[in-house]
Amino acid sequence: MDTTDVVIIGGGPAGLTAAIYAARSRLATLMIEKMSPGGQVLVTDRVDNYPGFPEGITGFELVDRMAAQARRFGVSEMTAEVTGVEPAADGLVSVSISSGGPVLARGVIIATGASHRKLGVPGEEEYAGRGVSYCATCDGPFFRDQEVAVVGGGDSAVQEAIFLTKFASKVYLIHRRDQLRAVKILQEKAFSNPKIEFVWDSVVEEVLGDDSGVTGVRVANVRDGSTRVLAVTGLFVFIGMVPNTGFLKGVVEMDQRGFILADEWMRTSMTGVYAAGDCRAKPLLQIVTAVSDGATAAFAIEHALSGAG
Ligand code: NAP
Repeated sequence: MDTTDVVIIGGGPAGLTAAIYAARSRLATLMIEKMSPGGQVLVTDRVDNYPGFPEGITGFELVDRMAAQARRFGVSEMTAEVTGVEPAADGLVSVSISSGGPVLARGVIIATGASHRKLGVPGEEEYAGRGVSYCATCDGPFFRDQEVAVVGGGDSAVQEAIFLTKFASKVYLIHRRDQLRAVKILQEKAFSNPKIEFVWDSVVEEVLGDDSGVTGVRVANVRDGSTRVLAVTGLFVFIGMVPNTGFLKGVVEMDQRGFILADEWMRTSMTGVYAAGDCRAKPLLQIVTAVSDGATAAFAIEHALSGAG
């Protein structure tokens, strides 16, 4: 069985930063990622609030630079899906992977991030990839000169609605309340964008379509119960995140939404296992807080392994 100092599960900003810090502490570090490194940021068109980039930077470039930095310090990488984490002999932690035998580590950092929540309405699954999308950067260009709708009122929905106006002739922003949750600067940009029409106090009841894909969405007004159909060919859903922690159910303590509970050292309820980034319960899910968590988790492992923790 392979043994290493640190296994990092997930290669987004939290995992990559943990990798940089662990490797610079001369800990043998293995990062396991089921796809290529990057995480959600990879498909973020523009990151405007990460310090040090006054003009903004594309999500792709930002994480590409982080990955290059991790590689410079000699981090090992494995492409695999982690299926479980459990205590092993001698205080080690065993990490099971989809292919091959488990890997043993002296410390494990969970940095698996979060995925987009689904609406759970009729038509959503049927038309996923045929008009229903969770990634404006990936799919926006397919909707040039067409009308699309975005669901949600947070930073993601508003930011992506603004992005979609580069392509679409009109963007409906459907929100279940009459006030946005998004940060004020994004609200101001959206309110002044003539291509965005707000559909307040409304929820999507059904995604309509035919062989060609999405043809519309039926929305219901939650105040008066009235319904109407918006004739759109695309529906972009940004209604929050679900943590990628299913494989840890019953293993580490989580809140009722499945976010991992960790202390300020990023320690979870299981000895030797740490959590960093969007999979951790905390008030602000941002790249800056993810990289901070990653650095702290790596520092905490080094501290514990050196006998100081
Ligand atoms: P979010 O902040 O949790 O917002 C989710 C939005 O979806 C809310 O407006 C919510 O409505 C609505 N919603 C939730 N469930 C719904 C349902 N079943 N049907 C209809 N609407 C529903 O999620 P997010 O926008 O994906 O952002 C996630 C995190 O990433 C946040 O911490 C955010 O700050 C961060 N983020 C930051 C940036 C940036 O800094 N530029 C960009 C993207 C994301 P209510 O408002 O009524 O609850």
